[in-house]
Amino acid sequence: MDYNAAFEAAISQVREEGRYRVFANLKRHRGQFPCATWIKDDGSEQDVTVWCSNDYLGQGQNPVVLDAMHEAIDAVGSGSGGTRNISGTTWYHNALEAELADLHGKEAALVFTSGYVANEATLTTLYKILPGLIIFSDELNHASMIAGIRNGRGDRHVYRHNDLDHLESLLRAAPANAPKLIAFESVYSMDGDIADIRATVALAKKYNALTYIDEVHAVGMYGARGAGVAERDGIMGDIDIVEGTLGKAFGMMGGYIAGNANIIDAVRLWASGFIFTTSLPPAVMAGAAASVRWLKDHNEKRDKHQERAKTLMARFKAVGIPVLPSVSHIVPVLVGNAKHCKMISDILLNDYGVYVQPINYPTVPKGTERLRFTPSPDHTDEMMDHLVEAMDKLWTHCNVARLPGVA
Ligand SMILES: *Cc1c(COP(=O)(O)O)cnc(C)c1O
Repeated sequence: MDYNAAFEAAISQVREEGRYRVFANLKRHRGQFPCATWIKDDGSEQDVTVWCSNDYLGQGQNPVVLDAMHEAIDAVGSGSGGTRNISGTTWYHNALEAELADLHGKEAALVFTSGYVANEATLTTLYKILPGLIIFSDELNHASMIAGIRNGRGDRHVYRHNDLDHLESLLRAAPANAPKLIAFESVYSMDGDIADIRATVALAKKYNALTYIDEVHAVGMYGARGAGVAERDGIMGDIDIVEGTLGKAFGMMGGYIAGNANIIDAVRLWASGFIFTTSLPPAVMAGAAASVRWLKDHNEKRDKHQERAKTLMARFKAVGIPVLPSVSHIVPVLVGNAKHCKMISDILLNDYGVYVQPINYPTVPKGTERLRFTPSPDHTDEMMDHLVEAMDKLWTHCNVARLPGVA
């Protein structure tokens, strides 16, 4: 076996498909989100504007968050010192979990090292806690949910994306007395569409199923206090388990679930992905708690965020840039080819100081490669002028399809 050749072949396959990934080497400017310095391969530097961060609200630069982190480091030092079971539970972990339970109007919450781990660990564990469990999963669910469902090795049915008729036909066909769980997301972050949570909950009640919603791309950003789309839609109290991240709009790191006390306690006692890994540092917990708390009281950030996204979408449409029909804060632009997508992204970065990563397979299906813009409350009109002008030129230069009716 020529191991080296096998690894090389795996790399060249990706390269030939035009989706070899290169990560931009950036240093953000504290207090000046979304500005950053790009460090090129030759060591030279260029100022860029970040257009693809999932720190959607710029909370990673909020002084309230940074101060809380500094205070925690000064008070208790760096790492947590172990798993939660051994010695890694701190006052900061408990305070954050209380803050999160309050956010979602639930009895309890449990923090994991990331949103990925929260999904994977919880869904796998639910199969252990509920023998015979059948999970009904939206086909566009995030890789971490799919991993959790697969690793649980129990029965599962995948329903067509947001197709509640299909979901109902699967629920109806399943044994009436089997434990069931519907796993779905609120905001789907590649297309920017949003699930009908109320109708999904109604189906769950009709067939006596639990609901598990991933609100990773909604927490902090939707609802009167930033609990997500379920809060916005007035259905939060009927969700059994909500999963979120601290790494995106909250600007920190970590993931969590919230639900009633027994669900959370059972997962705490049974989930390998919770038990056997060192907990996050107290300063991260402190920053996250400060961020969650601050966003509960700052609806104006959410309003501004929505306005910025709608403005950018309208401005792209006006010059015929093919924006996918998002109903959220995400502005996806269809390119439809991995090589074009990478080329446009490279030119935007090199020639215009615009940083937007190409989104390729397997993150999205082949043929739907796209640029995914995430305007924040801090992206100014001038930044948009510059971006739209650059995209307009590039669409002509690279001969990419425009919306019908716009030359
Ligand atoms: C990013 C993401 C996750 C994982 O969250 P992390 O905190 O980044 O690990 C889970 N679900 C969805 C839908 C995501 O986009």
